[in-house]
Amino acid sequence: MDTVNDVMIRLKTDELEKLKASMVRTLIEKKVLHKFRLFKKYFVVGVDGTGVHNFSKRHCEHCLTKTSKNGKVTFFHNVMEAKLLCPNGFSISLATEWVENPEGDFKKQDCERKAFKRLAARLKDLYPRLPICIAADGLYPTKPFFDTCAQNGWPYIVTFKDGNLPSVWEEVDVLLGKSTDNKRTLATTNSKHQVNIELCWINAIDYAGHKVNWIECIEYSRDIESNETQTSRFVHLTNIEITWRNAPEVSQSGRLRWKIENEGFNCQKNHGYNLQHKYSRNSYCATKNYYQCLQIAHLLNQLVELSANFLNLVTGKKSIKHLWKCMIAFLICGFIDADELSLLLRQRCQIRYG
Ligand SMILES: [Zn+2]
Repeated sequence: MDTVNDVMIRLKTDELEKLKASMVRTLIEKKVLHKFRLFKKYFVVGVDGTGVHNFSKRHCEHCLTKTSKNGKVTFFHNVMEAKLLCPNGFSISLATEWVENPEGDFKKQDCERKAFKRLAARLKDLYPRLPICIAADGLYPTKPFFDTCAQNGWPYIVTFKDGNLPSVWEEVDVLLGKSTDNKRTLATTNSKHQVNIELCWINAIDYAGHKVNWIECIEYSRDIESNETQTSRFVHLTNIEITWRNAPEVSQSGRLRWKIENEGFNCQKNHGYNLQHKYSRNSYCATKNYYQCLQIAHLLNQLVELSANFLNLVTGKKSIKHLWKCMIAFLICGFIDADELSLLLRQRCQIRYG
């Protein structure tokens, strides 16, 4: 691993990101992810930041710092991701931007909102013609965010919390009572739950030179067995004009954002990838390169784990972990016939994702 580490220290940090992007572009060219698009057009891209490392002593000149009440300073690194999100569980890293302080003197520390501007530029640079719709959390509904999306021609759906942008909420309160053709209800039933959805929306609210559209979804989910009802409320702002037809899909796509935290960060932190492990303690460049390797590994694993062929094998006691162990055991001890392998490689096969 010393040799690997030597490479990681020397390799320019954008090389592995370019490799990752070329893999994603192949998936897009082969239309593997097309059926998951919003309105059969846009790939939903979640943007969010997360903490990667904490240090009690300064680790490099780019560290972010935090001073606690008793004056103790801690050093840390956060990263921002733009991940392609799909309802079946795909959470694929498109572009990465580190939240980091510049060299030398600076007035204010770097933060997620500032890093978003750089992330947006990188996203445009790596995938100039990809039709994307940005999904982001309640930190983002701000003028700079709306400006960046408008400049890039991106639709967005962003979580809108009570109390954020008070002038928008005021207008929503006034207009809600006056409108009548801005509601839709839906009911669905699956084996476990009976779900009723109430959608309500207001289009064309002025905010800082932008027109924003507001949509609220209230979901009542009744457990058929216990008869208990759970109520959830989701509110989003978007620049997509909301109609009776598209309201359910817009709201649903906004809720996909949650997957960047769960299928994305949580999986990479707690399900074997060990995102927060200090793969390199003394080289920031190596840290970034190991991070990209992790993103590529996670992409390859998802392509296997979410395929119909693989999911059919995960039954009862056969967990994903167990199947991986079987595969590793085969690679170590099994006999692989070169002729048989080349025969398999010549066969065309299609991998399905549901
Ligand atoms: Zn550092």
